[in-house]
Amino acid sequence: MTSNAPGSEAPRSLADLRALIIDIDGVLWRGDTALPGLAAFFTFLREHGIAFRLATNNASLTPAAYIAKLAKFGVVASEEEVLTSALATAAYLRQESPGAKVYVIGEEGICQALREAGLRVVSEEDLTADIVVCSMDRGLNWTKLGNATISLRGGARFVATNDDMTFPTERGITHGNGAILAALSAASGAHPTVVGKPEPLLYEMALASLGRLPRETAAMGDRLETDILGAHRAGLPSILVLSGVASADDAAHAANPPSWVFAGLPELTQAWRSALG
Ligand SMILES: [Mg+2]
Repeated sequence: MTSNAPGSEAPRSLADLRALIIDIDGVLWRGDTALPGLAAFFTFLREHGIAFRLATNNASLTPAAYIAKLAKFGVVASEEEVLTSALATAAYLRQESPGAKVYVIGEEGICQALREAGLRVVSEEDLTADIVVCSMDRGLNWTKLGNATISLRGGARFVATNDDMTFPTERGITHGNGAILAALSAASGAHPTVVGKPEPLLYEMALASLGRLPRETAAMGDRLETDILGAHRAGLPSILVLSGVASADDAAHAANPPSWVFAGLPELTQAWRSALG
C-alpha cells in the first residue's frame, strides 16, 4: 500500500470493505493473458464473503463470454456478477429511445444487449438509423466508419459505450474506443453521449445489485480518468492497481487520488489478508 487518501469516502482499513466493483482489462488480464494472482484473489474474496461485481467499459463481450474467459483462468463467477457498458448502454437507450433503430459499431456484447432491450439493430447497408452506437469493434473497417459518419451527418444521435482513449493488451497499449469516437466526431461534427465510467450509470447499477452501502464498497481499476474518477463521483472508496494503464507516477499526480494503490492483485490480496488479521 502506498497511500490512503483522506476524504469522507475513504474507510480506515481494507478490513472495512464488504464489497468490490472490479474493472476487468488491465486488472484481471491483458488481452488473453491472465495477470498474476488472478485465481488466488477470487479465492480470497469468496473465502471472506466479499461480494463483487465485475464492471467494465469494454462492451465487446457478453456476460456469458466473460464467465467463460474467467473459467479458463480458474475463476468461477455467475452472469449476475458481470456488468458491462453494453448492458448499461442498452438500459439507457431502452429508457430514452425505446424501439429505436440503431447502427452499431461494435461486437456481439453490445449487439446482443441492444436486441434484448428491444432496440432494432440495423444491417450494414442501412443508413436510416435513429442512433449510432459506437463501442470497441475488432472488425472495424473503412465501410463501417463511413456508414456511421453518413448516419451522424444525417442527424442520427451519437451514443458511446465508453470513451477510453487507450486499451491495454499483451502487445502494449493500443487505441481505445475514445480514439474512434474522435475520428467520427472530426468527420461528422457530432459529439457522443458517453455511458461508461466515469459517468455514474455503471457504478449505480453495480451498487444497486450488490445491495451494500457506498462506504463499504470499493471500486477497483487500472485507470484514473475512468475507474477512479467515477468512484470519486459516486462517493466510493477506490483501489488503483498498476497492472494496466496508470503508472505509479500517474497515481502520485492524480487530481482525484485513489484511496489505495497496489502494484497488482498479489499485493492487494496480501494487504487485505493482513488487514483482516
Ligand atoms: Mg481497465
